[in-house]
Amino acid sequence: MLADSYGRIATDMRVSLTDRCNLRCAYCMPPEGLEWLPKPEVLTGDEVTRLVRIGVELLGIREVRFTGGEPLLRRDLAAIVSQTAALAPRPDISLTTNGIGLARTAATLREAGLDRVNVSLDTLRPEVFRKLALRDRLPDVLDGLEAAAAAGLGPVKVNTVLMRGINDDEAESLLAYCLERGYELRFIEQMPLDAQHGWKRAEMVTADEIYQQLSQAHDLSPDAERIRGAAPAETFLVDGGPGRVGIIASVTRPFCGACDRVRLTADGQVRNCLFAREESDLRSPLRGGATDEEIAERWRVAVAGKLPGHGINDPSFLQPDRPMSAIGG
Ligand code: SAM
Ligand code: SF4
Repeated sequence: MLADSYGRIATDMRVSLTDRCNLRCAYCMPPEGLEWLPKPEVLTGDEVTRLVRIGVELLGIREVRFTGGEPLLRRDLAAIVSQTAALAPRPDISLTTNGIGLARTAATLREAGLDRVNVSLDTLRPEVFRKLALRDRLPDVLDGLEAAAAAGLGPVKVNTVLMRGINDDEAESLLAYCLERGYELRFIEQMPLDAQHGWKRAEMVTADEIYQQLSQAHDLSPDAERIRGAAPAETFLVDGGPGRVGIIASVTRPFCGACDRVRLTADGQVRNCLFAREESDLRSPLRGGATDEEIAERWRVAVAGKLPGHGINDPSFLQPDRPMSAIGG
């Protein structure tokens, strides 16, 4: 098991498959992009699946989520998914993506064994998309969402980050769009994880604000069926259901005490938290001939040292060196 000294057990593995991306979301990447990891440093598909196998077979991992950067940029994604689906016990397999290219790949990924997707969508207005993500790709994202639902990759979840003065007037229209199509929308508070260090607490659109905004048009009631557990979203039934909306108050109401996640970066480093300032290198032992058990032991030690919380609200908080795109969100 992957246990830490505060009694939490990590069963949910977030695997970043690349730090590269075809968008430049303002809360994540600078307009000019970043210096990408050199190719030899990025784990191959076989290396990724070996680490996932060790996680599942030796360490109690039950859920695997592929992310990035943009994971659809990996040509071997379907192969990685199908090798993961062949593991015993078979983990739940999901993908977080910006949706570009999903229209083309959703059916193949479903066949390979992908269970679900989360697609990031911050706006329904093309000009706002261009301003926020610096590319003109809104139609690709919407087509990707539709294809994911048609391929059975559901319940399709949509992740939205609201930025003040840019898309903070779209909470209600995004919710209407998602409810109409049966997608489950979740708003995520913007966290200090952008490469350009531009996050400002005073500018952040808070979970309470989002709740207030949505409440003006809808009756939101706590979702009694959905036990929150380690899930970061507080979920509400919209107008009595069955439609739902989630709000993830990562900054204003941290849920670190119930965290069950562990992260693997595209270059083979284990991180026990998005905000960790230290990483444990699994790539060197992996490439140096270590046994599965030796790698598992290094991984256990990495998780054992997990801190009780992310500390964003402490005066001494320091943003991690790696931005979100290189950690895997
Ligand atoms: N490129 C894929 C995507 O956008 O879905 C996967 C990687 S992205 C880093 C994963 C998720 O993190 C996205 O839903 C994105 O909106 C979210 N994200 C990125 N930077 C964030 C930040 N500073 N605060 C909160 N969420 C963030
Ligand atoms: Fe790319 Fe996802 Fe970051 Fe946007 S949030 S820049 S799509 S990695």
